[in-house]
Amino acid sequence: MPDRPIVEDPMSADLAWNEDDAPFSSRFGDIYFSAEDGLAETRHIFLEGNGLPAAWAGKTDFTIAETGFGTGLNFCAAVQLWLETRPRDGLLHYVSIEGFPLNADECFRALKHWPELEPIAKALRGRYPEPVPGMHRIHFPDWGVVLTLAIGEAGAVLSGLHGRIDAWFLDGFAPSKNPEMWREEVLSEVARLAVPGGSLATFTAAGAVRRSLAALGFEIHKVPGFGRKRDMVVARKAPDSLGRQATLSARAVTIRERSRLDRVAIVGGGIAGASLVRALRRRGMDPVLYDGAGPCSGASGNAYALVTPRMDAGDSAVARFFAAAYRYAIAQYGEGDGWDPCGVLVMLEDEEALVRAGKAQGFAWQPAASGSLLDRAQASLQAGIDLECPGLFYRSAGLLQTTHLIHDWIGPTTVIETDIDRVSRTERGYSLLDSNGDIAGEADVVILAAGDGNRRFADTRWIPLTPVRGQVSEVPATDAGHALKCALSWSGYLSPVRDGRHMLGATNDRNNKIGDDWGWVVLEEDHRHNHENMPDYLTHLVDEPNASWSGRARLRSATPDRVPLFGAVPDVAGLANAFRNPAGRGYITFPDGDLLILGGLGSRGFVTAPLAAELLVARLLGEVWPVEESLGITGDPVRFASRAHRHARIEEFLG
Ligand code: SAM
Repeated sequence: MPDRPIVEDPMSADLAWNEDDAPFSSRFGDIYFSAEDGLAETRHIFLEGNGLPAAWAGKTDFTIAETGFGTGLNFCAAVQLWLETRPRDGLLHYVSIEGFPLNADECFRALKHWPELEPIAKALRGRYPEPVPGMHRIHFPDWGVVLTLAIGEAGAVLSGLHGRIDAWFLDGFAPSKNPEMWREEVLSEVARLAVPGGSLATFTAAGAVRRSLAALGFEIHKVPGFGRKRDMVVARKAPDSLGRQATLSARAVTIRERSRLDRVAIVGGGIAGASLVRALRRRGMDPVLYDGAGPCSGASGNAYALVTPRMDAGDSAVARFFAAAYRYAIAQYGEGDGWDPCGVLVMLEDEEALVRAGKAQGFAWQPAASGSLLDRAQASLQAGIDLECPGLFYRSAGLLQTTHLIHDWIGPTTVIETDIDRVSRTERGYSLLDSNGDIAGEADVVILAAGDGNRRFADTRWIPLTPVRGQVSEVPATDAGHALKCALSWSGYLSPVRDGRHMLGATNDRNNKIGDDWGWVVLEEDHRHNHENMPDYLTHLVDEPNASWSGRARLRSATPDRVPLFGAVPDVAGLANAFRNPAGRGYITFPDGDLLILGGLGSRGFVTAPLAAELLVARLLGEVWPVEESLGITGDPVRFASRAHRHARIEEFLG
């Protein structure tokens, strides 16, 4: 999604408040909602205009999309109606696009006019994201509501949106004051995303808008507007208009009813498996988790994980995925108990690192943009100890108590402590087989989330995954070490003292020097490596490695491009199809196979797994994706085959 200067300006909404304390946009010279009664207006135009609540009656999933989130009034009104009339086990997806975001307090101030909305407005304020460009997914699990707030210019956001919209709320200031919002490119995306038979409502009855919508396959009706407005428009996407939206996005969507997908198996009980369980359980589903040694026995089971953004100096889909994943992860962790946002100071040890940090700060979507660039003295003050270089301080980053979180997310899910060695296709789905070839379970969909264990399956053998040994040292605190206030990160990292010790990490070994035990045996040599890798000016914080040091070692699983794997694992025929795909996007749509993977997380699993899991589950269920399409396909395993194909090495690649 290209950024536009409008969304990078924090004052971009140019908000003013009139004498009734109602918001007004000086930029557009227009009001956010009717001066008479905004809530009544919303109900008339958007809720009744889209035939709600009748339109969602009896549906398990219903998706509303809105152009112009503004204060969140339409969202709150829709949620209020949903809570009164919610179908059994129903999930409401509400997608809203906003180019000039208000902040949480401004939304709340505007919504104060309606005390009846207060519980919803408060919940929104509590979870409202930092209004930075990109998509933000916010869950209200108790209500069966998922809000996807997409911050960016409407046309750009919509072209990257992936999903099926049942009802549109077109609410982007009057066409005469804001023609940008009503231009052909925007409305054609509205039509592309609308399901056949889906509805649309808008306050405007402008002729140009009506004509564009009609040309795009909507049946238009002029109906009485709200208050003094004579007309407004409601419309329905012609049920036979599928041909118009036969884009890849539309084809890529499988419609699966959650209630009919009751056998989902997840192999692996680390952060990948736990994130998948959580995403499924939030939708009322009940997967089964398989892990031979039980949850947290692999690389995710270190006592603490450092959760810190990846700093990319450029603007790529991968960089944006990592940024979105970081934002999503810390929002999820912040809702639980084991999250310790102590802050992380990334040490900028040379000129090159400093330049990269400066570049990263130039992108409003980068977590670095809200990080503080500190000179040496400021960095020392922040850290509580003397440092010898400047740093980039991420206030929102921190330490996670991993096992606490993983057990919490797995909750009451059935865990079967059997190592799965093979998955074989059956008529209805898959059998999961143990090392003796005995059937340990059956499922319609299997998601491999077993870290390094993902390599053992016949179907994944073509995916280039490498085991990487990582040992973290747990180092007793000294008096000097207690002064450290935040975590420090260089090519290694040091945590502040927790439970009387520092976490000092971590090794990264791709070569097995020690034989069978190499995955988990703790080595003194690796403690020494972690110590020697510390910058000299930090070594006084800990003693030399000695017998009081303990640690934990496990194998992580890495991909050659350091981007995780999230997507379908095709069989060879599916693979051949994918890289021959003339659309060239090179990703597998799920109807081609229900064997999925979430892996190759390297050392950043606690950053990427929650969003990747949410995306996989959204794709599986044909829901709106939580990220733009270009970001959502970055993890597709098929990329390796496509690359080999491009370099005429596909035969060799598939071996
Ligand atoms: N639905 C909102 C509510 O419930 O408060 C009111 C929406 S207000 C009338 C229109 C919104 O559209 C504003 O928040 C404005 O910033 C946004 N907007 C205008 N032009 C836009 C564009 N080109 N892209 C994205 N958002 C835009």
